[in-house]
Amino acid sequence: MTTLYEGAFAKLNLTLDVLGKREDGYHDLKSVMQTISVRDDVEIDIGTGKPWTLECSEEGIPCDERNLAWKAAKVFFDVTKKDPDGIAIRITKRIPSGAGMGGGSADAAAVLRALNRHYGNPFSIFALAELGAQVGSDVPFCVVCGTAMVEGRGERLRKLPDMPDCVFVICKPEFSVSTPELYKKIDEVAIPKRPDNKAMESALLAGDLGKVCENVFNVFDPVVTQEHLELNYIKSIFNSYGAAAFQMTGSGSAVFAIVPDFEFAAVICSMLRDNYPNVFIAKPV
Ligand code: ATP
Repeated sequence: MTTLYEGAFAKLNLTLDVLGKREDGYHDLKSVMQTISVRDDVEIDIGTGKPWTLECSEEGIPCDERNLAWKAAKVFFDVTKKDPDGIAIRITKRIPSGAGMGGGSADAAAVLRALNRHYGNPFSIFALAELGAQVGSDVPFCVVCGTAMVEGRGERLRKLPDMPDCVFVICKPEFSVSTPELYKKIDEVAIPKRPDNKAMESALLAGDLGKVCENVFNVFDPVVTQEHLELNYIKSIFNSYGAAAFQMTGSGSAVFAIVPDFEFAAVICSMLRDNYPNVFIAKPV
């Protein structure tokens, strides 16, 4: 039996635009995504000689074929036609669920990367990302990691220059947002403001953190904030303690701030910790 170890990195949406609803019911998105150092740990035993199992350190997450990590392993073995003779997956969760930080997708991506490496890299990283699209919309990006422009349902992605050095503070409030309901809402309203993805791309090309911060914007942020004014409280703390940008990630409910260094991050963190157990300081990875 062999055990594989892989880090599963959370993502943030530096920008997120919803371009429209497609005929298949999904929405076309355009988003600059960034992986960060908040991570789950994934371990896979290969060749257990027993039926597949999955354990997860957090309660409430399905530990069977509904888990995205399990689905990813299934897709990998179906496509490669390899027989692992039993696998056991263990996930140590740190990425909060229902946060818009892509926790499940990150675990799935980690499984794909670990299995690909174990079997001698039958897939290039972009072919592996394509395989990930069968598991979930955010999985292709989570396979590739770094900074990327992501389009379509998440299956079209283009690497961008690395995010300039900075520190993120992420705060996940208690409430979660229903992603399908949020999409329904956004279909019913005219979107008053959209991110300028071209300007974000230019800012990244120039390595200009100030311009990156100016262009952080997620179309879902005002929609969710309107219903959960608590997000304004968290943002006011970010704002008062020197954050250069702050915004919700994905469909929420986590909000992140970009700050110049750890000292700013530590102060913001100490201001939020009393009310919010899920506050993280992270670096881009
Ligand atoms: P996203 O940014 O992709 O919207 P999210 O913030 O909604 O992610 P996830 O951590 O991906 O949060 O969890 C969403 C749901 O997916 C959970 O409620 C859980 O039931 C299911 N799920 C399936 N597999 C996993 C996994 N490996 N880790 C966490 N959740 C998982």
